[in-house]
Amino acid sequence: MAVERTLSIIKPDATKRNLTGKINAKFEDAGLRIVAQKRIKLTKEQAGVFYEVHKERPFYDELCAFMASEPVVVQVLEGEGAIAKNREVMGATNPADAAPGTVRAEFAESVGENSVHGSDAPETAAAEIAYFFSGLELVG
Ligand code: UDP
Ligand code: MG
Repeated sequence: MAVERTLSIIKPDATKRNLTGKINAKFEDAGLRIVAQKRIKLTKEQAGVFYEVHKERPFYDELCAFMASEPVVVQVLEGEGAIAKNREVMGATNPADAAPGTVRAEFAESVGENSVHGSDAPETAAAEIAYFFSGLELVG
C-alpha cells in the first residue's frame, strides 16, 4: 500500500475539552505520523467553504457555526494507506455507531459534535490539505 497524506481536523468540541493530546496519541499509536499541525480559529465563512459539499444538507448551517465556535487543530497525517486508516481510527460519523476504541466512540458528543474530521478519498485529501497548508509547511 502506498504512503498517503490525509487532512485531519480536531473539532471544537474536542479542543474545548482539552482532548488534542489524547486524540493525537490514537493517531500515533495507529502508525499515523503528524507531519503538519496548527491551531486556528475558523470564521463561519471559512468553515462554509471547507464543507461546501454539504451545502444542501439540513445540518450545514449548524455545522459551520459549530466549526467556527472554538479553535480547531488542523493537521496532516501521513502513513501507509493513511486516508482509510485515519477513517478507521476516527470511527463512524455517529458516535452511537462507532466501534469501541475509536476516537468518536470515546470522545464524540453527538453526530454533529463528533470530535474529528478526516478526508475520505485521495482527491479530497489533496484539496483539503491545500486549503489549510502551503507546500512550505509540509516538511515530512
Ligand atoms: N453531520 C451532522 N449531521 C449529520 C451528518 C453529519 O451534523 O446527520 C456533520 C458531522 O459533524 C460530520 C460532518 O457533518 O462529521 C460531515 O459529514 P460527513 O457525512 O462527511 O461525515 P464524516 O466524513 O465527518 O464522517
Ligand atoms: Mg466527510
